[in-house]
Amino acid sequence: MDANLLARTAQALARREAELRLELAAHHDAISHEVDTFEDLAGHDREVALLEALDHRASDELRLVLAARRRMHLGTYGDCIECGGPIADERLLAVPTAARCKACEQRHKAAGDG
Ligand SMILES: [Zn+2]
Repeated sequence: MDANLLARTAQALARREAELRLELAAHHDAISHEVDTFEDLAGHDREVALLEALDHRASDELRLVLAARRRMHLGTYGDCIECGGPIADERLLAVPTAARCKACEQRHKAAGDG
């Protein structure tokens, strides 16, 4: 794998990880604040549900980022986790967390488990 591409995706993943960690910390602060100040109970529940949904999305993405950084550490980054073939450079630049080549990703999505 091209060293320049690896450096760029590594940087993108590190930056995304930092952003997601900040986002999650902000959600947690907001949730505990909401739980402390519940005057309007219905509004409060809606707010907490919204924050938890955002939290869920951010944690899912953080999981993908950490998995990609782990593959980088192991030296398997850029190899498809299904077929072992190389993931296209353009795909990695567009989606640094990509774990599958395009063909496997399409099969995976068609199979309906994520
Ligand atoms: Zn594949």
